[in-house]
Amino acid sequence: MPPVFRFAPSPNGLLHLGHAYSALLNFDLARAAGGRLLLRIEDIDASRCRPQFETAIRDDLGWLGVRWDGEVRRQSEHFDLYQQAVARLSEIGLLYPAFESRAEIARLVAQREQAGPWPRDPDGAPLYPGDAKALAPEARAKLLASGAPYALRLDIAAALARVGELSWIEHGEGPDGETGTVQAHPQAWGDVVLARKETPTSYHLSVVLDDALQGVTEVVRGRDLFFATSVHRLLQALLDLPPPAYRHHLLVRDRAGRKLSKSTRATSLAELRGSGVTPQAIRLQLDLPPAA
Ligand code: GLU
Repeated sequence: MPPVFRFAPSPNGLLHLGHAYSALLNFDLARAAGGRLLLRIEDIDASRCRPQFETAIRDDLGWLGVRWDGEVRRQSEHFDLYQQAVARLSEIGLLYPAFESRAEIARLVAQREQAGPWPRDPDGAPLYPGDAKALAPEARAKLLASGAPYALRLDIAAALARVGELSWIEHGEGPDGETGTVQAHPQAWGDVVLARKETPTSYHLSVVLDDALQGVTEVVRGRDLFFATSVHRLLQALLDLPPPAYRHHLLVRDRAGRKLSKSTRATSLAELRGSGVTPQAIRLQLDLPPAA
């Protein structure tokens, strides 16, 4: 079976050189392998995603010479599918609602840190410090009935007890040179949020469901998502989804050595295009071979 690749941007801003690298690499690898490249729009966060950014993504990819196969999948049109997976994980007792606000969580962490350092996840965020998992059933029912907002968290200890050791095939490299068969450590993330009352899914959940549903066999993405792959492997095991192979690539950095991002106002592809830069020059700058 020919391999299936995908490029999966979020339409919450304009694409920059980091996206161009990921998209071109996926396109070149799919071509070289005689495979397919899919485009998926990851727009579950309605507060940040805008249709005009999806249009800009299509324009930028067209300009770069990245062509995709088949229909574009838009995650916001598949909340029912994600909800079914949430229901399944709930039924087997792996999710619990946690009612603390972000501010309360920050306060709890500060409190815990008075006794020493509190563990952080690979992105540097503190692990969930609350005790919602131990909430008495009546108290939980009362809070749910009150309409209070909540996050559905994965009981990581119970989840790991169900699946045992997990690993993935890495064709790229992690930050410490990890490659080949890589051991997954989902416990590094603590009880991750898989859905919220107002958004019935999360990046982690939708990405594994869509990759499986779309028959993706090769996930090629930035190294900033290397550690998230541990959570993805766990969800695949819990939901009986076939794991793709992964290739985490180097991130494009600016002159100050910072990873390009929308928040650091990296120059957009649209601006580069407007100033007369050519797609050939972009390939050259990114150390990618000229277009075939
Ligand atoms: N939507 C994610 C982003 O734009 C990428 C997800 C992925 O490649 O797994 O950063």
